[in-house]
Amino acid sequence: MNTRMVRFGNKPQIAFFDFACCEGCQLSVLQLEEHLLDILGHVDVVTWREAMSEQSNDYDIAFCEGSITREEDIERIRAIRERASILVTLGSCASGGCHNDLKNQWEMGEMLELVYGDMAEHFDTIPSRPITAVVDVDYRTYGCPVSLPEFVTVVKRILTGQRYEPPNQPVCVECKLNDHLCVFEKGLVCLGPVTRCGCGAICTQFGDPCQGCRGLMDAANLEAAVKALTREQAHSIVRRVVERYRFTEDEIETKLRIYNNWPELRLEESVAHDD
Ligand code: SF4
Ligand code: SF4
Ligand code: SF4
Repeated sequence: MNTRMVRFGNKPQIAFFDFACCEGCQLSVLQLEEHLLDILGHVDVVTWREAMSEQSNDYDIAFCEGSITREEDIERIRAIRERASILVTLGSCASGGCHNDLKNQWEMGEMLELVYGDMAEHFDTIPSRPITAVVDVDYRTYGCPVSLPEFVTVVKRILTGQRYEPPNQPVCVECKLNDHLCVFEKGLVCLGPVTRCGCGAICTQFGDPCQGCRGLMDAANLEAAVKALTREQAHSIVRRVVERYRFTEDEIETKLRIYNNWPELRLEESVAHDD
């Protein structure tokens, strides 16, 4: 990824856009309260459907949420890319695929019938993919919803002309740095060992397992993770958990799939970019 570095003279104009998603990331940004007021002192918001009526095609920075799931989405995100000096993906749907990629397990016609029944012929769809698979992106943020400290960091980096590369270590690193109790001790299965950190391990802080919402880190060893968590092959450290919950390999894979497109379903980025 080649991050574009832009220094803005006056206040940059920013816009928010949504593609297929629940719009929870935008909602989270709106809940930033005092941070949001600080940010608004340094930018002019010109488009934000969830927050205001005005719209403009003249903007410097585009924050884009959601996944690409229709042909028309591809044209729309390309147009946004052309207009914006800087494009930021907001949350895991846009940066990694997230829940939307679950639909890729079905053939598209079958999936339309499952969802729309007799009305299926009136809808068009393509396999879901993150925005990062369709256009070049300058900054990425992850989380479902987006990790707000990461969002604030990215905004500051953009406004001061600095790069931001999302961390690529497991959640376990932040979990241990913050001295949280490992939830495996409580008999819960945690996806922290294969999930990209950057959220401050907020779930394990409160005793909940990581569900993987920031997506897999680049070097995640899924085969090893599945083997370690299934009752036939469990590592001795987690054997007690596995015996108690009696997970099968399919069940562990299902858990991993909630936020992560399984490798054999992952779309080739080069194909998407060449469309
Ligand atoms: S990343 Fe999660 S919260 Fe954000 S838009 Fe997608 S589904 Fe909603
Ligand atoms: S609770 Fe989860 S994230 Fe924390 S150390 Fe244990 S496995 Fe890793
Ligand atoms: S701990 Fe896991 S599920 Fe919780 S916010 Fe972080 S990445 Fe998401």
